[in-house]
Amino acid sequence: MTPRHLKTPWPTEPRSLRNWQLARLRAYLAGTVAPFSTHYRRVFAEQKFDAAALRTADDLRRIPFSTKASFVTGPDAVREFVLIPDRAVLSKRPATIARALFRGRAAVAEGFDREFRPLLLTSTTGRSAEPVPFLYTAHDIENLGIGGARVMSVCATNREMKMLNMFPFAPHLAFWLTHYAGKEFGVFVLDTGGGKSMGTDGNLRLIRKIKPDVLVGVPTFMYHVLQGAVAEGLKLPNLKKIVLGGEKASLGMRQKLRALAAQLGAEKVDVLRTYGFTEAKLAWVECPFAEDAGSSGYHIHPDLALIEIVDPKTGEPRGEGEPGEIVFTPLDARGSVVLRYRTGDCIDGGLVHEPCPYCGAIVPRLVGDISRNSEVREMRLDKLKGTLIDFNQLEHVLDNVPHVGTWQLELRKVHDDPLELDELILHVAKSDTCDETALRAELSRHFARETEIHPNRIEFHTAEEMRTKQGVGVQLKEQRVVDHRPKVTAATQPTSVK
Ligand SMILES: [Zn+2]
Repeated sequence: MTPRHLKTPWPTEPRSLRNWQLARLRAYLAGTVAPFSTHYRRVFAEQKFDAAALRTADDLRRIPFSTKASFVTGPDAVREFVLIPDRAVLSKRPATIARALFRGRAAVAEGFDREFRPLLLTSTTGRSAEPVPFLYTAHDIENLGIGGARVMSVCATNREMKMLNMFPFAPHLAFWLTHYAGKEFGVFVLDTGGGKSMGTDGNLRLIRKIKPDVLVGVPTFMYHVLQGAVAEGLKLPNLKKIVLGGEKASLGMRQKLRALAAQLGAEKVDVLRTYGFTEAKLAWVECPFAEDAGSSGYHIHPDLALIEIVDPKTGEPRGEGEPGEIVFTPLDARGSVVLRYRTGDCIDGGLVHEPCPYCGAIVPRLVGDISRNSEVREMRLDKLKGTLIDFNQLEHVLDNVPHVGTWQLELRKVHDDPLELDELILHVAKSDTCDETALRAELSRHFARETEIHPNRIEFHTAEEMRTKQGVGVQLKEQRVVDHRPKVTAATQPTSVK
């Protein structure tokens, strides 16, 4: 029997795959979105867009993009994107008629409930924007499990493996996807709730007890836990996979995690990244690849998601393998539904369709590094010493410097005076006993090359001190950049000379 999570057969030839996806989208838009989405009913009418007539990629482009801003315009914006069924329309569906005939009215009512009644929500974590809730029905929860189980398949896990889900317990996609993935895949999964629920010690206790084959979590927290495990001399020879999500993981971070796993006695460990976002209600993963080879890219299963890559400035489509912004359209979602959602994430290797060089899968793959434009913009709002800092790039640089375990960037003002100059302090916990003076010089050099400024101070700390600084066990997500600059208030505003 084919596992349920692999149930949809799709064409494997790129051109027919695209047409197959468009046909799937047409049926979905005409039968489910157009009649039941307040927002899209209005938009389609305004655009004179007939979903049933959608045939080509050009037709698709007549649907306007949506962005995070789409959900915050007007008091009812979030609700406008939720599919609310009209029983009169539903009762005319051929599937409804068949079900009523063969299984009775009660089965019809139950089917509608399963498909449309919201049961779960996850929300965005935006640091500056209001969190936006996304609703899931039983239908969506099933797809969440299917998507999650496929992540496990692509990672080449098997049912005999034991998995520890260390994502923070919160209404966030990462935690729930991992939870339902385990259930759907049929693998033992223990949800620890991450650092805030159990602390590093609590997670370590469970690792000692369960001896998991697969660890899933946020990269920075994963680092703290593995480092704690090494410090206490733990051995984990059966550890096979470390699956990361919730924040970007640089190449350097992967190497550090592999090195820690080796110290735990796990010789061959795949460190794999996932990519997902609230609005997709899905995540995708890389398949295992040799350490000295490039990543296989995120494997997108084409029955649940249609991905477009567009020019981030003009919104024009990009070709096969060309860099651009990732745009997402669901193909089978209920609950909250957004079409052509602009993620603000740019991928430098674009979307490719040729067979995966490692696992052979013929699915669209997102290849290369993703930079979150939204985050960069957010961090760029405040210039530092008059210089614009690309924190995306800086993260990679700091992670890649040898001997650096964890780090945190702290922004302050001289004397804590809001009118004074910016100060930048780099806090570092070393991963070994290397010389501090040499490392300080090395870091300062890397920093200046990347940002054209030198940090005011570089301070060294123990691993324990860094855990406290990053808020492990206190914050939902470990903090790598903190802004402690006091805000200018009326009291501190300089008065103009009269
Ligand atoms: Zn692959």
